[in-house]
Amino acid sequence: SAPIDWTAVRADFPVLTREVHGKPLIYFDSANTGQKPASVIEAVDDFYRNHNANVSRAVHALGSEATEAYEGARAKLARFLNVRVEELVLCSGTTFAINLVAYSWALPRLRAGDAIVLTRMEHHANIVPWQLVAQRTGATIKVAEIDARGQLDLNQLYSLLTPEVKLLALTHVSNVLGTVNPVREICREARKRGIATLVDGSQAAPHRPLDIAAIGCDFYAVTGHKMSGPTGTGALWARREHLDAMPPFIGGGEMIKEVRFEGTVFADGPRKFEAGTPNIAGFVGLGAAVDYLSALGMAHIDAREQALLAYANEALSQVPGLRIFGQAQEKAAVISFLVEGAHAHDLATLLDLEGVAIRSGHHCAHPLMQHFGVPATCRASLAFYNTHDEIDAFVAALNKVRKLLA
Ligand code: PMP
Repeated sequence: SAPIDWTAVRADFPVLTREVHGKPLIYFDSANTGQKPASVIEAVDDFYRNHNANVSRAVHALGSEATEAYEGARAKLARFLNVRVEELVLCSGTTFAINLVAYSWALPRLRAGDAIVLTRMEHHANIVPWQLVAQRTGATIKVAEIDARGQLDLNQLYSLLTPEVKLLALTHVSNVLGTVNPVREICREARKRGIATLVDGSQAAPHRPLDIAAIGCDFYAVTGHKMSGPTGTGALWARREHLDAMPPFIGGGEMIKEVRFEGTVFADGPRKFEAGTPNIAGFVGLGAAVDYLSALGMAHIDAREQALLAYANEALSQVPGLRIFGQAQEKAAVISFLVEGAHAHDLATLLDLEGVAIRSGHHCAHPLMQHFGVPATCRASLAFYNTHDEIDAFVAALNKVRKLLA
């Protein structure tokens, strides 16, 4: 196939033409939320202009169009993730998806004496729900640690997988270090020991070809807004046997077969977990986002981002006093760093004045910050729509503000 014209791709993203503080915007915060191509914005707009109705309720034309569009988005996402539609619960994002597993799967199952294994590099969204479950069940939490490069110590991780462990919940890609975890191998080891696995795919789905079926996990969570889709969209994939066994989490309309005051018969499959009116327009947008990413091809996106990462690493290695957190062999285009003598927040604030949007802070990963003994880092996170020129401008701006702070 013809090589992709990345300049044309970039032009699909209206916001990237903006200026901030009189400078061209350099958006290096895609791990926080991704920018949206015009096709996604237009799909949402078109839905509200021409098709808006509620789903699964009305027999009128708009009602069936809305239902078709919503279910169409589920089908597109299922294809994108290589899972079956009947196993894909649509929800507001990864946070909801993980909480759904925590409340519907773990809470009824876990007992005092059981354990949950997490890793040092988890986002709070994959820590706090398990702490809430642990508090209510008496289960304990064990932590898999990382090595100096920010990779999981697999031997230590496997040594934690003892008979009292019921669940291993880990991220596919770290939102701070960029580390890509070998989830397929890890899930295989857990499965051998009868331990269920949940993979947080927030930072994986937007950046690399994904085949959830091949990973062999029990649960996989994604969030739409990092995949060029609207905020408030996401999904949980779960094995059908789990979905069937799990009680509903939130009750209401849309999720039932029959309601009597004596008791309710719930809908089958994912619907049981989708009470209330969903973010219909958002999922229409997510369907368009999946179309967009698929048309580019996730392998092409991955290669593009790896090239940008290599270029950024090389450029940043020339910046005096700059330390990068996370040097994993397999790494996504996420660069956490600190510059000697400068506070992360000051750096980010001054970079913003230069038009560069990065994130500073703990990145919802306090335990990881504690591990490194720092309160915060700066994080530049790249996406395929970024350019080599932007990296040059970023490094020049960084050198400028570094001198201001020194
Ligand atoms: N897990 C990881 C690894 C993340 O990076 C994020 C978003 N920063 C989340 C979970 C939470 O995603 P959301 O807020 O979209 O639910």
